[in-house]
Amino acid sequence: MQQQDLERTLQYARELLAIHSPSGCTAAAADYLMEQLQKMGYEPVKTNKGAVQVYLGGKGEGALMLASHVDTLGAMVRAVKANGRLRVAPIGGLNASNTETENVIVHTRDGREFDGTLQVEDASVHVNGKLKETLRSWDNVEVVLDEDVKNAADVAALGIGAGDFVFVEPRTRVTASGYIKSRFLDDKLSASILLGLAAHLKDSGLVPARPLYLNFTTYEEVGHGGAADLPADLAEFISVDMGCVGDDLGCTERMVSICAMDSRGPSSFETVNGLVDAARRCGAPYAVDVYPFYGSDADVALASGAGVRHCVVGPGVYASHGYERSHVEGVKATFDLLREYVDFV
Ligand SMILES: [Zn+2]
Repeated sequence: MQQQDLERTLQYARELLAIHSPSGCTAAAADYLMEQLQKMGYEPVKTNKGAVQVYLGGKGEGALMLASHVDTLGAMVRAVKANGRLRVAPIGGLNASNTETENVIVHTRDGREFDGTLQVEDASVHVNGKLKETLRSWDNVEVVLDEDVKNAADVAALGIGAGDFVFVEPRTRVTASGYIKSRFLDDKLSASILLGLAAHLKDSGLVPARPLYLNFTTYEEVGHGGAADLPADLAEFISVDMGCVGDDLGCTERMVSICAMDSRGPSSFETVNGLVDAARRCGAPYAVDVYPFYGSDADVALASGAGVRHCVVGPGVYASHGYERSHVEGVKATFDLLREYVDFV
C-alpha cells in the first residue's frame, strides 16, 4: 500500500467515524459515501433500503462483491423516567457495561440534538455504597441529559421521547505508534479501506479482472444488511468486516484476518484458499481464524438465497463492540490482500 493510499484511507476513516450512523439512522453516512464515490468519478447508487452500491468495472464473468457496513451500534430512547432520565434500548449488541460513562447525543426525530452521558443509576460513589457491586445492564444504565430537567414533563418540553436515537461518541484517536482507537471501527475502518481501494483503482487506471462491486450496507448490526439488492451475475460475496482478536485466535491488530468459519459455519473452501494464496503472494501479514461469536453480511446474503461463494476478511480489531483498537499495519494488510485478490488487469 502506497503512503498516499494509506493517508487517504485514514482520512476516509476519520471522516466516516465522525458521522453518527446507528442502524436505522444512516442517511448521513450514505450521503458521505455517495459524495466521495462521485468525486472519484464513479456512479454509485443508493438502494431503496439505504445501502450504497457502486460498480467499479471489470472484464469477464463471475462478479465479486466486497461488502462493508457503515451502520453501527447505538441506542434508542425507550422511555422517559419520572426523574427525567432516559431509559434506552440498545441497537445491535451495544453493551451497557462498557458504554457506561460515555458521552452521547440524543438525536430527535426532527433532527435536534442534545448532549448527555450514559451513567448507571445513582452514579455517585460518595452516595451509593453498592455502586461497585452493581451489575450493569440496560435496566440500570440510563442517559443523563445535560439539560435542566427534573421530571418527564421537562424532557417532553424539549421534544425528546421514545423512538429518538442515541448516538455514542466514537472517541477516535490515531496514536504516533500507528494504533487506531475508536468505537465503530467495526466496520467503518473496512468501509474506508474499500473507499481507498476504489480511489486507488481510479488513479491507476487498472481494470478488475472480473466484474467488481462494492456494497456499503446499512443494517448489518441488526442482522439483515446483506439480504437485498445483489447483482444477478454475482459469483462471490466477501464481507470486508472486522477481524476478531482475542483468546486463542492468531490475528492481531497488525494483520488481516481471513475467517475460515464463523458462528453460521465454514466459509467457502475456494475463497479462503484463494485469499490465503493472495496474502502469501503480496506478503500481507495474515491469520486464518475461526470466529466463535460472529455472523456477517455474507451469511445474510446466503440465507436470503444468494448462490455465491463467501468469506469474511478484514483488519484485526480488538475489544470489538466496545472501545475498539486496530493498527495501520492491519489496514495496509487488508488493502494489499484485497488488491491482490481482486486481480487487476
Ligand atoms: Zn461488523
